[in-house]
Amino acid sequence: MGGHDEREQTLNQLLTEMDGFDTSAGVVVMAATNRPEVLDKALLRAGRFDRQIVVDKPDMADRVEILKIHTKALTMSKDIDLSVIARRTPGLVGADLANIANEAAIIAIRSGHSKVEMSDFEAAIDRILAGPEKKNRVLNPEEKRRVAYHEAGHALVAEHVPTGQPVHKISIIPRGVSALGFTLQLPVEEKFLSTEEELKDQIAILLGGRMAEQVFLGSISTGAQNDLEKASEIARNMVCYLGMSKKLGPLIYGKQHRLQFLETEVTESRNYSDDTAKLIDSEILALVTEGEDRARNLITGNKKSLEKLANLLLEKEVISREEMLLLLNK
Ligand code: ZN
Repeated sequence: MGGHDEREQTLNQLLTEMDGFDTSAGVVVMAATNRPEVLDKALLRAGRFDRQIVVDKPDMADRVEILKIHTKALTMSKDIDLSVIARRTPGLVGADLANIANEAAIIAIRSGHSKVEMSDFEAAIDRILAGPEKKNRVLNPEEKRRVAYHEAGHALVAEHVPTGQPVHKISIIPRGVSALGFTLQLPVEEKFLSTEEELKDQIAILLGGRMAEQVFLGSISTGAQNDLEKASEIARNMVCYLGMSKKLGPLIYGKQHRLQFLETEVTESRNYSDDTAKLIDSEILALVTEGEDRARNLITGNKKSLEKLANLLLEKEVISREEMLLLLNK
């Protein structure tokens, strides 16, 4: 928008100033950025910013240490295990963890606990990750039944596919802006890579909710929109960017451009033919349909368990892992 002049002048001035420092004067120039990829190459040349230190999001061990700091001032009950909290909060940064500790303290006071208990932390994490409970959003019994079967479907498929993460909690209490229920899986360890098999399992789990609705209630609803969005996204990535489609081979299709300074706007340019586009579409569809079939088979093969799970959900609204395993005789 014509702002380039201003930016170039600033950059040139900065470079001139930096070159002007006497190397024996003991001046150290430090700078921080969230967008190293858009910096001018001249800034990064040797002799200017020589050393780059990446401050990434904390991993699990980091999160335990960060939680130790933020919980220092809290009176906590003995049952609190910070490593469980760290395990439940992948991708969160220090500020989020501070927020969770604070929220847990508030919840503890509201619930009349003399110490902060593990359940207060659980509630705080749910609140931060999924939004506050909307207890006054009343679903009619038919909708509630549908949500119960939907979430039970996710949980059942997650427990049965080979690489599914263990289900930690299932809830049908509405939360946040639009979530009517959620099934929370807890990773056993932090992961940086996903295999093809894991991605396929994820698609099946995402479609489990919708399939349970179809199998038990005979129809599907609008409640699965977010699941479908995520499943399509995974399938598209597998085909276009991860080379996981046999028919398309180990190639990358489409080039993504991120507009400078506008992180939200990503444009994609097509670098393949119309025929390839058709093949991409059919491969994506094949992956999602395969996931759908797997979910349907698991659900029809375990109808009794799913029925029990959904009924318990209707009765209690929230089910823990222990309760679920007891029910599934595991
Ligand atoms: Zn769902």
